[in-house]
Amino acid sequence: MRLSTPHAATPRAWTVELQPRPGGPALACPQCTPLPHPVPAGAARAVALAHLARHARASVLPAYLRTCQCHARGCRWHARHRGCAGAVLLVLTRDHGGRRWRLADVCAACAAATERAAVVPDTLPAASSLPLAKSPVHSGPSRRQEQAHVRVREMLTYLGAALPRFCSPTARLLAVQCALRANHRGQVHLPGGLLRGMRLAGHAVPWQELTHADWLSCPSPASRTALGGVTAQLLDAAVLAQVHGRAARARAAHWALYSAHLSPAHDAPPALRLAALALASHTTAGSGSAEPAHLTRMCGLSSSHLDDLLDRLLRLRLLKTWGYDVDSDELCWQLPAAATHFA
Ligand SMILES: [Zn+2]
Ligand SMILES: [Zn+2]
Ligand SMILES: [Zn+2]
Repeated sequence: MRLSTPHAATPRAWTVELQPRPGGPALACPQCTPLPHPVPAGAARAVALAHLARHARASVLPAYLRTCQCHARGCRWHARHRGCAGAVLLVLTRDHGGRRWRLADVCAACAAATERAAVVPDTLPAASSLPLAKSPVHSGPSRRQEQAHVRVREMLTYLGAALPRFCSPTARLLAVQCALRANHRGQVHLPGGLLRGMRLAGHAVPWQELTHADWLSCPSPASRTALGGVTAQLLDAAVLAQVHGRAARARAAHWALYSAHLSPAHDAPPALRLAALALASHTTAGSGSAEPAHLTRMCGLSSSHLDDLLDRLLRLRLLKTWGYDVDSDELCWQLPAAATHFA
């Protein structure tokens, strides 16, 4: 089907900058505010992301009309590459010491070549790259499993860029669950049983870390329910902009906790669980590979720390082998024979 109306002229790229001012930071958006307007101290990041998400929501385009905005600007956002390719994705990029944020439609090749860029998780990533597959209703269990693991990978990648470096592995594991389980207003309730299963019941610190990062607000102690559950409000508007497909996201949240074959015991150190989840989300049919820098960003770890964790997974027999491929510069691994597809 072809439409004759030239909707594609809508430029889906927005940039906001947080400018330091004597009275506190101000948000500048060249597309809608002639003058920077002040934002509450401590909430600057959240306000910036919310502003970008509003622009994205206000100019929704069907997938077949979205074009690479990087290409439209001469590909100046990254080092040279072979040209645009792949699906057009919504990509968040942080620049200038974390003060400038850009949200734009960018092709997969440009997104991969751009530093500090993260794909904003889409609700149906596998379906969106296949515009003809209109009905996800017919997807079988293994297809749904695959979508769950793609969704977890995209969420980890996004959080690797959206959360500050100081966030601990525990806070990151919690953020994955919150982002995937939130309702359409960004409210999330994690029941006490779930938190106990994650060995997080009664732990206030990871919630405080995410609050301090302006990623969620968690009014305590009123947010704690009688059975030890926690209710919170997500402030990350880029995640909120993508909150359809709740059942599929809930499956992904469940997969992240229980179904990944490459999964240490729930009382294992959080850094080990996070590294295992990052690997699992890149594993298909018993083996996987990824850029080392991509994995360390996802986990908020140094590369030597990641190497240690991979050795631990080897000793726990959750990995059969791991190593660096000299040709591709990628980190590669294999699972033991017992752990099969979509581990
Ligand atoms: Zn604006
Ligand atoms: Zn480009
Ligand atoms: Zn491109």
